[in-house]
Amino acid sequence: MDGSGGLGRGRLICLSNRIPTGAEPSGGLVVALADVLERSGGIWIGAAPETTDQPEDDLTEIEGGAFRRLAFRLTAAEQEGYYAGFSNSVLWPVFHDRADLMEFRREDHETYRAVNRRIARIVAKVLRREDRIWIHDYHLLPLAAELRRLGVENPIGFFLHTPFPTALALQSMPQGNEICGWLMAHDLVGLQAQRDCVHARGALTRLAGAEELEEGLYALDGRRMRLAAFPIGIDTADFTRLAGQAFDRLPPGIVKPPRQLMIGVDRLDYSKGLPNRFRAFRHFLDLQEDWHRRVSLLQIAPPTREGVKAYDDIREELEGLAGKVNGAFADITWTPIRYIHRPVPRETLAGLYRASHIALVTPLMDGMNLVAKEFVAAQDPEDPGVLILSRFAGAAEQMPEALIVNPHDEGEIAAQILTALTMPRSERRRRHAALMEGLGAQDVHWWSDAFLTALTGASAARVGR
Ligand code: ADP
Repeated sequence: MDGSGGLGRGRLICLSNRIPTGAEPSGGLVVALADVLERSGGIWIGAAPETTDQPEDDLTEIEGGAFRRLAFRLTAAEQEGYYAGFSNSVLWPVFHDRADLMEFRREDHETYRAVNRRIARIVAKVLRREDRIWIHDYHLLPLAAELRRLGVENPIGFFLHTPFPTALALQSMPQGNEICGWLMAHDLVGLQAQRDCVHARGALTRLAGAEELEEGLYALDGRRMRLAAFPIGIDTADFTRLAGQAFDRLPPGIVKPPRQLMIGVDRLDYSKGLPNRFRAFRHFLDLQEDWHRRVSLLQIAPPTREGVKAYDDIREELEGLAGKVNGAFADITWTPIRYIHRPVPRETLAGLYRASHIALVTPLMDGMNLVAKEFVAAQDPEDPGVLILSRFAGAAEQMPEALIVNPHDEGEIAAQILTALTMPRSERRRRHAALMEGLGAQDVHWWSDAFLTALTGASAARVGR
């Protein structure tokens, strides 16, 4: 790696469904790319949060910020079919192994294709010959193929932030194998974990008939595409600093020794395994009467994608479960589950992680899971908390020193809660130090650097430079 962010000659053009508006605190992705965008005179292109009445092919400049941001606007119907419909009611469930929750509508699929075609036209207008393009996530899977159709031969990379489904799961969605053709239009496809690369190999070779020329290099219909895992990281050093500051500013009484705090932080999504987490905690309380009043679970789960039925259902299920657990166990001085259904400022979150003895990160399926990494980065190295992590989070491949659990096995989670509560400080420090080493080496800057360097290599091989 050359440490230059793979900075080539041209600009970096970044594309994602939503454009960072600057209104919300910057996520890791924005921080990771800001530097290379700034230095290359690059541009971030994405959908504006507000919709428009008439489809328009113009880009609006969003003022302020260190790099250029250009927004396109979608109509309400496009937003519904492309975003709520195909992206979040077909691709999201199928990619998270929940084809049972898929709501496939042919019109949504058409809208998804049409929106990507339109975005390709818009992007092609601002492209220069030397530019490199980096497309993010499942909303924009066909975009590179549409760009190629328009004759764009610039280097194009794609990063999938979700898991990649097995060939079998992909077949549960109508026209599932067209996704393989879309992938082949890129020079480089980045996935979160090795398991995703295995799944993608199955889909590409068995469903689409692509040939694997060497490990991770695929050929189909005269195109070559390189595919590899680039596990996304966090801005580790920055998060550790933030947590230290925020901890000192937490309101008093958040943790009252000797009571221990367990924390869960997730978007309210069925992939996050929240009901099984609550049931596992109830199971723990059933078994461990000694721990009553000495441990509580703080679950922060802000709503997302409201109006999509599966999300309304999970909300109801979880509120019911929290009520039942509290009904069964709470007394006047102790509420076992505190359930907060709204976003919390990033800083407060960092302080809460540091105040917690245990993080319960138990998704049924997750591309990476950044909460696991944030929790570890936020700990006091002298007296760190313990991470309980689902084997189905991409992060599990990089974090073997966490207590790894099967999120479907409530008995195992309950047993590991006890292990974590009683773990000697020396062992906590040893595990934390090992985890921090990984988080320091593979932070979000490493991630963007590694991806862009590989993109430069892959596209140079294609054009024979
Ligand atoms: P996903 O991308 O599926 O939501 P991740 O765990 O990878 O899951 O990333 C979630 C990000 O959102 C983390 O950076 C986390 O800090 C943030 N986040 C999650 N819940 C909240 C909340 N209640 N308030 C503020 N930020 C949150």
